[in-house]
Amino acid sequence: MKTGTSSSSQSDADQRWLETIGRAIAVLEISTDGVVLEANACFLSDQGLTRDQVVGKHHRLFRPHSIADKPADDEVWRTLHQGGRVSRQIECVAGNGDTVWLQATYSPIFDAQGALERVIEFAFDVTPHIQRELAARGREHLLSLVANQTDNAIIITDMAWHIIYVNAAFTRMFGYEPAEVLGTIPSTLLTPYTPQSTVQNVRQTLQEGRPQRSDDLVYGKQGQRYWCSITGNALRNEKGELQHTVSVLTDITDAKMHEVIQRRVLEAMVQEGPLADVMNLLCREVEQIAPEVLASVLKVDEAGRLATLAAPSLPEALVQRIDQTGLSAAVWCGDTPAVSDTVVDLLTDERWTPHRDLVATLGLRACWSTPIRSKEGRVVGIFAFYFCELARPDDFLHRLVAVCQQLCALALEREVAQSQIRQLVFYDPLTALPNRSLLHIQAEQAIATALRHQDSLAVLFIDLDRFKQINDTLGHPAGDALLCTMAQRIRDQTRNADVVGRLSGDEFVVVLPECDAVQATDVAERIQAALAVPFLLADVTVTPSASIGISLLPNDGQDMETLLRRADMAMYQAKTKSRGTFSFFREEMNLAAQEKLALESALRKALPAGDLRLHYQPQVDLNDRRVYGLEALARWHHPTLGHIPPTRFVAVAQECGLITELGRWAVNEACRQLGDWKQRGVPVPGVSVNLSPTNFHDLDLPRMIAEILQHHGLIPGSLTLEITEDVLMDANPSTLTTLHALHAQGVRLSMDDFGIGYSSLSYLRRLPLNELKLDKSFVRDLEHDHTSRALSNAVLRIGESLNLTVVAEGVETEAQREVLLEMGYRAAQGYLFARPMPADTLEAWLMVVREH
Ligand code: C2E
Ligand code: CA
Ligand code: CA
Repeated sequence: MKTGTSSSSQSDADQRWLETIGRAIAVLEISTDGVVLEANACFLSDQGLTRDQVVGKHHRLFRPHSIADKPADDEVWRTLHQGGRVSRQIECVAGNGDTVWLQATYSPIFDAQGALERVIEFAFDVTPHIQRELAARGREHLLSLVANQTDNAIIITDMAWHIIYVNAAFTRMFGYEPAEVLGTIPSTLLTPYTPQSTVQNVRQTLQEGRPQRSDDLVYGKQGQRYWCSITGNALRNEKGELQHTVSVLTDITDAKMHEVIQRRVLEAMVQEGPLADVMNLLCREVEQIAPEVLASVLKVDEAGRLATLAAPSLPEALVQRIDQTGLSAAVWCGDTPAVSDTVVDLLTDERWTPHRDLVATLGLRACWSTPIRSKEGRVVGIFAFYFCELARPDDFLHRLVAVCQQLCALALEREVAQSQIRQLVFYDPLTALPNRSLLHIQAEQAIATALRHQDSLAVLFIDLDRFKQINDTLGHPAGDALLCTMAQRIRDQTRNADVVGRLSGDEFVVVLPECDAVQATDVAERIQAALAVPFLLADVTVTPSASIGISLLPNDGQDMETLLRRADMAMYQAKTKSRGTFSFFREEMNLAAQEKLALESALRKALPAGDLRLHYQPQVDLNDRRVYGLEALARWHHPTLGHIPPTRFVAVAQECGLITELGRWAVNEACRQLGDWKQRGVPVPGVSVNLSPTNFHDLDLPRMIAEILQHHGLIPGSLTLEITEDVLMDANPSTLTTLHALHAQGVRLSMDDFGIGYSSLSYLRRLPLNELKLDKSFVRDLEHDHTSRALSNAVLRIGESLNLTVVAEGVETEAQREVLLEMGYRAAQGYLFARPMPADTLEAWLMVVREH
């Protein structure tokens, strides 16, 4: 390296100084042709090159971007030629192939003639610094990409709130090109209706360095609206002064509509608010979001007519006019698709001609209707927006309507569903009359009113006569048709204020407010007459009739339950009198019913508790008084009710469904006793048990009896079942099956109380009987009454001809015994021989008899 020289000591000092610099700074000596003349050690070590790789080579070989190739043309060379220095960052390729960045300064050296002789390059390695810078620049690039790709609008302002940057999404959303908005103030541009005070508050927040968040209605270039969520952030310098604001605007129009409208409306629906309330709420919410709109909802009824459901901001006069016109939905909407742009000009459209004056005075100009469709696509309502100006609905309104249509459809369908549910819950599906629940509700209301005004009120309990028979013989559809006709006839005979309902089956109830006994008689007669009009049912003319029971407020009761129960009792009373009559409730009926109820609950307990006993009455041979059999008779002694005769509790059991249990108990108890006697050698040939007709409905009866017999080690022939002639009246198809099955099993069957019933002989022959029991009423009159004697004789002959044993019942006197014996009777039963007695007494009795 050549340097200028002066004195030798000075040059020594200079030399050391240069060497120091040379160790710190890379130095390269380049010819005017760009060839490297010399490189210092620092350069070589920095670059990882050897001297041979550098000296004599064109500097471009290892530093492609240093000084330009064509020295003469190049700006750099020109500067150097003119004596200027050039400084620049150059990218080099190090010996190991790495890129090295240098901050290089080129200084010219001139020859004595002042021509450029060489150039000295001083260079520092600035690679780390450059790398950092490059990385930062990469991020910036990414950020700008992001800013332009995002769907959120981004606005950057300077400290004076002037826009200095907007991204591509901003342009897409609001329609402004960047050039149009740079320098403007965002609030003026986008939220012109936001009060200045609010803008000031926002600025204050940002100035204090706090982020700002709000939801606002933002307007675009064409007046289009968006609900935007706006987040603003302040960028401040080191001194804390506001430099920039960055705001991000997100379109939340859909979310907002859903949030505001949907949530509130759904909440109202969940709270079971009336439909009109829910729809009013919806309209008001719509008007909040779109203040230029007057919203209304119209309902389409079954006939396709429109009726306003909600129109909170529409003038009442217009609503009335629309409802009175009774426009059909089809006319109103034409064949509008789900959502259309078509806005009706109220001042020119002919459908509005009749209302033009009204509309004009109200200042309304346009109406935009969209149909509300059910899931099945039926138009169930109309969503109508009124405007004061003739304008096309923008995207914002379309989105709003889409949300509202869904909600309206839901609300309207829910209303329909609810009324269907109401119908199902409160009305009888067959006759469409109020069912028991609604009847009670309506009746209680009528009763409360009557009590308040001290009015009279009557409850009629109507029961069709022989309905079961019609149902069984003509079939259920015919039965249903009969019920519908009856319901209609009853309704025809009542006033609007009267409550008519169907209780169940063929039972109807009418509650007559302001009705005393005289008027109730009148209504009952009228209803009976109306019901009795003959009509054709499944090709058969039927003449229906009904029995009616009547109870009166307040004497017979002061609540529906009591009144209904008493009307029911009175109806029963009427039925027992004669069909097709009516009867008023009387206190005695109530007492009897209460007694029966007490008996019923006592019996329910007595049966499983084993409080019932069987007494046994011997049946004897009239000739030698030998014991021929025993009849088991139930006895019940209740601790408080005392001795209850079997006729009474058997009837109760029959009515309250305990008869099966009672029969089962009697058979089992009698067999148990017989088994016990057999085991102990007590000479009892067999036992007779009384069963009710209903017991034979039970198809399981033969199996059960077989099981009982087997369990007690008895042969079937030792059990006789006593049946009554009622069995024959009974239409139940199971009865004959059961009787035959029992007979086939070997169980004996006896026809009890024979002679008083109406069973024909042919009927009798179809029954698998073993025995007839002559009713005791004949025996009682045997001595004095000719007819009784003749009938007793006939019964015996019938028995003989059918090969049946005939037993005479109720033999109390020796005279009776003699007459019977004379007639040819063999078996008898009666107080003359023995009363019914407990098992142990009977054993003692048997012993006494044997000893005689
Ligand atoms: P029933 O089957 O005709 O029974 C004969 C009734 O006549 C018995 O009355 C008996 O005590 C009575 N009796 C017997 N000998 C004479 C007599 O010489 N003179 C008079 N006046 N009466 C006599 P009870 O025990 O009061 O039974 C009445 C009815 O109750 C029975 O009439 C029967 O139909 C029914 N019954 C009794 N126990 C049962 C039972 O366990 N199940 C069913 N289903 N009915 C029963
Ligand atoms: Ca009997
Ligand atoms: Ca009898």
